Amino acid sequence: MTTEELLQIDREHLWHPYTSTIDPLPVFPVERAEGVRIYLEEGGILIDGMSSWWAAIHGYNHPQLNKAIEQQLHQMSHIMFGGFTHRPAVELANKLLPLLPKGIDQIFYADSGSVAVEVALKMAIQYQHSRGEGERQAFVTIRSGYHGDTWHAMSVCDPTTGMHALFGRALPQQYFLPQPKSKWGKEWDPSDLDPLKDLLQKEGSHIAALIVEPIVQGAGGMYFYHPNYLKEALDLCHEHGVLVIFDEIATGFGRTGTFFASEHAQVVPDILCIGKALTGGYMTLSATCTHKTIADTICSGEAGCFMHGPTFMANPLACAVASESLSLLLSTPWQQKIESMEQQMRDELAPAFAFRGVEEVRVLGGIGVIETKTPVNMARMQQRFVQEGVWVRPFGRLCYLMPPYIIQEEELSHLTHSLVKIVREEFD
Ligand SMILES: *Cc1c(COP(=O)(O)O)cnc(C)c1O
Repeated sequence: MTTEELLQIDREHLWHPYTSTIDPLPVFPVERAEGVRIYLEEGGILIDGMSSWWAAIHGYNHPQLNKAIEQQLHQMSHIMFGGFTHRPAVELANKLLPLLPKGIDQIFYADSGSVAVEVALKMAIQYQHSRGEGERQAFVTIRSGYHGDTWHAMSVCDPTTGMHALFGRALPQQYFLPQPKSKWGKEWDPSDLDPLKDLLQKEGSHIAALIVEPIVQGAGGMYFYHPNYLKEALDLCHEHGVLVIFDEIATGFGRTGTFFASEHAQVVPDILCIGKALTGGYMTLSATCTHKTIADTICSGEAGCFMHGPTFMANPLACAVASESLSLLLSTPWQQKIESMEQQMRDELAPAFAFRGVEEVRVLGGIGVIETKTPVNMARMQQRFVQEGVWVRPFGRLCYLMPPYIIQEEELSHLTHSLVKIVREEFD
C-alpha cells in the first residue's frame, strides 16, 4: 500500500480524536519512533513535544521496556484476573505501594484513564451507600477540568468545553464550582473556597465526592492553581462527609516536579486515579487506588464487593511494562531532570510574553504553556510545526510542550524555539 492509498483509506474510514468526517484535519503517517524522534513515512523527522499525551515519559522504543514486554509475551499476554493472579500485577503493585500517598494501599487496575475515573466515582457511591448515606448521589468539581470521555467522567468535565448541553438530560447533572482564581506561585486568596463552603452547607448531604485534578488542570485549560486550595477543600469536604478524588492521570509520575502533584499541597486524597505515564506510554493501563478503610466499607455493604471487573483487568503485558517503566524512572535522577526542563522552558518560552496575541506564558515542571488571546488555527499551525521538525499539537487557545523526560538540552531548545517562532508568526 502506498502512503497515498493509506491516507485515502484513513480519510474515508477512520475517525481520529475530535475530528470531522466531513472535513478531516490532515494526519501524518508515522513509520516508527525512537527516543524523542518520530519518523514520518514521507521522510520527515520530528522531535516529540507531546509525549503522546503525557504518556511516553521515557521516549519511544526503549530497549529496557521492549525487553520487559517481550519477556512477558512469551509467558502469557493475557489471563483473566477473576480467580487468577500473576507476577506482573503483584510486582507492579509492590513497586507502586511505597510511591502512593500515605495510607493508600488498595489498587484496582483498569483499562484506561476514563475507566479509572468511572471506577473512582462508583467507589464513592458504593462507599456512601454502605454507610447508609445512599442519598449522596451527586459529584462536585471545578470548572475547566477534564476527567475523560466516558459517560460519568464526561459529566464532571467542564460543562462548556465538554459540550454538556449537547447531551442534554441524558447526562447526569453535577455541581460545578468556579476555577480557583489563586494561581500557582502567586498569592493565596482564601475566598477561593467560598463557593465550595456555600455548596457544602446547602447541598452537602447530596454529594458523594469532590473530584479534581490536583494543581494542574490538563486538557481543560492547562491551568496551574494554588496548593492551598487542595488542602482546604479536603478539610471542608471531610467535615461534610464528602470524599475527595484526585485525578492524577495526567500529573502522576513526576510531570509537575513531584512524583504526584498532590505532594505540592502535602495532602492525601481518599481515592486516587492514575494512568497515562503508568506504562511509560506503551500500553493502556490505569488504576484507581484507595485506603483499606474505604475499600472495606464498600465491601461491608449490600453488594459485599466492589461492583466492577473489566475483561482486561491487570493485563499482564501492560503490568509488566508498567513495572519496568517505574523501575526505569526511579533509577534516573528524574527530579533534577524535570527541574532543568522547567528552568530551560521558563527561559526559552519567556520571549512569547511580548507578542501582542499572547495572554500568558506559564511553566510548571515538565509542562510549558503559551496561552493565546484567541483560538489557534490547529491545521495551519500543525503543518508549520511539522515543517520545523517538531511535534506540537495546539488546541483552543493553548500551545504547550510536555516532552519525554529523556529529552536533551539541544532537543528541548529546538522545541521551544520552534514554538516561540510559530506563535510569533500567528500571534504577533
Ligand atoms: C487523559 C485524562 C483522562 C482520561 O484518560 P483516557 O486514558 O484518555 O481515558 C482522565 N483524566 C485526566 C486528568 C486526563 O488527563
